[in-house]
Amino acid sequence: MAVYAAPGAPGSIVEYRSRYDNFIGGEYVPPVKGDYFVDVTPVTGQPFTEVARSTAEDVDRAVAAAEKAAPAWGRTSPAERALVLNRIADRVEANLERLAVAETWENGKPVREALAADLPLVVDHFRYFAGAIRAQEGRTSQIDDDTVAYHFHEPLGVVGQIIPWNFPLLMAAWKLAPALAAGNAVVLKPAEQTPASIHLLVELVADLLPAGVLNVVNGFGVEAGKPLAQHSGIRKVAFTGETTTGRLIMQYASENLIPVTLELGGKSPNIFFSDVAAERDAFYDKALEGFSLFALNSGEVCTCPSRALVQADIYDDFLADAVERTRRIRTGNPLDTETMIGAQASNDQLEKILSYIDIGRKEGAKVLLGGERLEHEGELAGGYYVAPTIFEGHNGMRIFQEEIFGPVVSVTRFADYAEAVAIANDTLYGLGAGVWSRNGTTAYRAGRDIQAGRVWVNHYHSYPAHAAFGGYKQSGIGRETHHMMLQHYQQTKNLLVSYSENAL
Ligand code: NAD
Repeated sequence: MAVYAAPGAPGSIVEYRSRYDNFIGGEYVPPVKGDYFVDVTPVTGQPFTEVARSTAEDVDRAVAAAEKAAPAWGRTSPAERALVLNRIADRVEANLERLAVAETWENGKPVREALAADLPLVVDHFRYFAGAIRAQEGRTSQIDDDTVAYHFHEPLGVVGQIIPWNFPLLMAAWKLAPALAAGNAVVLKPAEQTPASIHLLVELVADLLPAGVLNVVNGFGVEAGKPLAQHSGIRKVAFTGETTTGRLIMQYASENLIPVTLELGGKSPNIFFSDVAAERDAFYDKALEGFSLFALNSGEVCTCPSRALVQADIYDDFLADAVERTRRIRTGNPLDTETMIGAQASNDQLEKILSYIDIGRKEGAKVLLGGERLEHEGELAGGYYVAPTIFEGHNGMRIFQEEIFGPVVSVTRFADYAEAVAIANDTLYGLGAGVWSRNGTTAYRAGRDIQAGRVWVNHYHSYPAHAAFGGYKQSGIGRETHHMMLQHYQQTKNLLVSYSENAL
């Protein structure tokens, strides 16, 4: 067991600057209007640094710097870009603990998750796309005996990327690695709740990239994100965030007719068929653990298994065991490696979750566990903590239909396979789903029948770089992770060549 010292306290491995400017053209540049906003840690509710509050003028500068850098970067060989990506991965790996503590301090997530998942996935993501770009090949078609069509992958140029606060470094890596591998220059806007850990990353890797290839503009959605998505200098916008914001991003992008990829919200079903309880064995324990993963990252995960569907004949016993399993989740200081559930990322998010708990009660759902703010002692007293909460109700309730984005699961029962699939698909979203069954046919069939981009069978919440991730329905457009992502950052050049010496 270890408890990391809080940044600012003696012995901490993380040191912040008192202020973060924008990173444009390879250097730190103050915002044109000179305004800054305060960055607060959800662990204690205290401010710890301030960050540039950018506007359209700052976005203009960043896009200009990226436009300048893009042609030369786009002409580098895949091997050169792969080397840079591998070096970025090495730097992150060498500083993994420090970045994990910073991620915890700014987002509130338990450091054990940041150490075991977020940061190793960041490292792997850069390495994966370093390999993917080297393995990518173009195509040729023989049109006739003398005519050949060559198809080349060319970068788009400058791309805009807007990311959320729930996995700041991982969401940045998901977007940066394929974009840079494909030879694009980037303007990235972090979420206003979590800009600092991204700046720690930038400081670590800035010297590895030519000036202007990576630019970071801080600020709020409407003030900085909107002018980025609307900018006539970008050739694509990649966005992760709420479905309502995703609609706006698409409108902005339509002004310049540029493509978008959108990774949006979810209300993912986690389905437990009755054969799960055929034995009280390791598989059964794994299923209970799978149920409790709604609390991973304090529930602030787009694929949070926030609707649990349990078959009627095992419902009472399974739920009793699931409640006990969830009760054992350790809450407390996120910087303690034993803590399994940390703070919510912001006060706004805390209030949103508490208001949904209230809505759930008012619409008649039964609270089986939790259902309140968690009060901690000492410095943590000002932080934003919610107890893991289990509701019992039905799929018509708002707590089953709307994304809460907290450690809250809504449970209901189903009679048979058809009803399970009907409930699972009765949602606007289609991001993730879980299916638990010892019967391969049931698991396979359900996996195919559920309308979601990622269905986990007999596990949940794994995000390997080489499996495609993305949404059906209102959960998004396009995919992230997997080498197919490269296509979202490239355009096809067709060179149609006649080698004939004869006139037509
Ligand atoms: P959000 O939409 O409020 O903000 C996301 C980003 O968009 C932030 O950087 C924000 O500043 C910016 N933004 C907000 N309004 C904007 C506007 N009008 N124009 C341009 N930019 C704007 O989302 P959030 O609350 O930060 O993140 C939580 C959401 O993200 C949840 O809905 C979650 O499901 C989703 N999410 C999805 C995935 C996925 O891969 N599908 C992954 C993580 C999070």
